Amino acid sequence: MDNRIVKVIVDAPLNGALDYLNNPKLNLKKGGRCLVCLGRRTVIGIVVDFSQESEVPSDKLKEVIGVPDDIAPLTKDWLELCQFTAHYYLSYFGNVAIPALPRFFRTSPNTAHERSIKKMRELSNNKKQKEVPIPQLTDEQKYVVEDFGKIQNFGVGLLFGITGSGKTEVYMRLIDQVLSKDLKSQVLLMVPEINLTPQLVKRVQERFPKELVTSWHSAMAEGKKASAWLATHEGRSRIMVGTRLSVFASLPSLKLIIVDEEHESSFKSIENVRYSSRDLAIKRAQLCNIPILLGSATPSFESLKKALDGDYRLYRLTHRAKNLSQLPKWEFIDTSKEKVVDGLSQITCDEITKTIDAKHQVLVFLNRRGYAPVVTCNGCGWHSLCPHCSTFAVYHKTTGRLTCHHCGWSMPIPKSCPKCGSVELVAVGRGTQRIEEEFDSRWPEANILRLDQDTTRTRGSVEKALSRVHEGEVDILLGTQIIAKGHDFQNIALVVILNADGQLLSSDLRARERLFSLLMQVSGRAGRGSIPGKVILQTRYPEDDFFKYLADQDYEGFALKELRERNETCLPPYSAQALIVAEGNSIQDVLVFLKRIKDFFIRFNIPEIQIYDPVPQAIVKIQDISRGQLLVEAKNRKVLQYFLARVIPILRKKKTGFSWYIDVDPISI
Ligand code: ADP
Ligand code: ZN
Ligand code: ZN
Repeated sequence: MDNRIVKVIVDAPLNGALDYLNNPKLNLKKGGRCLVCLGRRTVIGIVVDFSQESEVPSDKLKEVIGVPDDIAPLTKDWLELCQFTAHYYLSYFGNVAIPALPRFFRTSPNTAHERSIKKMRELSNNKKQKEVPIPQLTDEQKYVVEDFGKIQNFGVGLLFGITGSGKTEVYMRLIDQVLSKDLKSQVLLMVPEINLTPQLVKRVQERFPKELVTSWHSAMAEGKKASAWLATHEGRSRIMVGTRLSVFASLPSLKLIIVDEEHESSFKSIENVRYSSRDLAIKRAQLCNIPILLGSATPSFESLKKALDGDYRLYRLTHRAKNLSQLPKWEFIDTSKEKVVDGLSQITCDEITKTIDAKHQVLVFLNRRGYAPVVTCNGCGWHSLCPHCSTFAVYHKTTGRLTCHHCGWSMPIPKSCPKCGSVELVAVGRGTQRIEEEFDSRWPEANILRLDQDTTRTRGSVEKALSRVHEGEVDILLGTQIIAKGHDFQNIALVVILNADGQLLSSDLRARERLFSLLMQVSGRAGRGSIPGKVILQTRYPEDDFFKYLADQDYEGFALKELRERNETCLPPYSAQALIVAEGNSIQDVLVFLKRIKDFFIRFNIPEIQIYDPVPQAIVKIQDISRGQLLVEAKNRKVLQYFLARVIPILRKKKTGFSWYIDVDPISI
């Protein structure tokens, strides 16, 4: 008998699997879930292998307790994906695989377990669906569907298409092709935003009325997650639409992966295992030997470079699919020369007035909520700092409080300076609340709607507000990122962008790339209907060629130029990076600790690895915890992996007294 010993992974930081004695009656299989003893607890584990011998003496081995249910084992490629994730992001197999299951399937079963599963299996698509019209493809779309559709094995495509060019339509055709080829085939469609998922799920469900379309994202109730998971695991659902978590969904007959808006930072996990689900999706496609399509209007530089180098197939959609509405015209206002009153230049004001008078709508974009970012004392120079973070507490006029956006601390606005008692407290700078107030007094007749995190806390409030815009009840829509994405407004003739300079000057490697993408999205809200659109952007740096590319909507030109610069300075994607982030009570101590790690790393003396000096993070202190980081850079991912695989396990064993984690391929440094 060569399966006397069962190797089982559990949710614990362990290298490899634990050995248990097999119980032949259980008929265990590789990939199957089982119940085992871990210390004093009974936990769910996954069988990853069998063997005859164990290094643990037989009398110390415990027998597998049982199986939780009759659910089929997880597939080989799924296990490989989890194992790869653990290896690449320096985590542990069990720590990746077990938490990737919905809670229902990773906790010990209770008495209602079987009944719950029976209920889940009843999940079906019994809604009446109406047929939706299917548009004729444009030539550009047709080419993608035909060419990409031909790929039989692993292959990556990048669909680089402007907003409204019909990328989603291409996805639908590809899904259709795959599903109709074989009764079992499954498709995974990954999307970045939780609040975009319902719309897309609806669109996909309408298009495939006979299919059970499941979704999976973090805001879903646990019960729903479990039944969606089981539906794809058992093949009753052939289409899953989900956020980054869904890269770990169980899809035994997966034949196609699509990642929409592949550049979005929400594909990167920022908790526990810091994985990029876009990158893992590519790995998964490789493990399953199937095609994967990445789509974006502003692809990440990483993906664009690979496509330009010929590693990915590059497909372009250069026209809008439906109407030939023109791209908006840009005007840049030099605020270092023009007089600015209450944050607005005269030209900006005149354009707003003109637009409202013509009964068109204005969209004002300002990526900063609250009334003013800081309150200061004219007497002594006191600033409204958060006592727990190294940031300012933001003045919120609507609540009458100073609130920290990082830890939530807040206090009533003081009537006089807490330090010197002076009553000359002033609000400096402007957030959306202040703009709303100032616009209200400038355009008292206009209907103004503010949309930001503070006005949209209740469920459905965004939809409600947006429908007011669509109904034409709003003259001026002002807000943060929330108004930037995806909305198909028909009557917006003018977009005003305020205060983008902060991000333009940010030292973060990807700040400009992200800003470009964001501003392209914001500007794309104008001129979608029959009226031409205009965009006004106020900046102190109109000479920056960033704006030249932006005005031409030339993302590729911009990307090529930035990529050239990154190449010269050996920055990603021309190198690979990892961060060691450490936390402690004082930043001095944290930096000393990181310096010790640096010295330890240097002793390995690996050429092609560069280790920078430790530095405090951009926001040093949050909730009384100070954070510093150590940047490790290598010629490529392979070298970096080789290095990290050697040093991190040793570092993990050391007693340091500090908490730290590793972030491979960090997205902000
Ligand atoms: P994207 O995903 O690139 O933003 P969509 O696929 O959502 O673009 O398409 C934008 C709009 O154009 C949608 O209303 C869609 O129904 C429509 N559309 C897409 N392809 C075509 C086509 N070939 N002919 C006519 N309309 C199309
Ligand atoms: Zn003072
Ligand atoms: Zn704070």
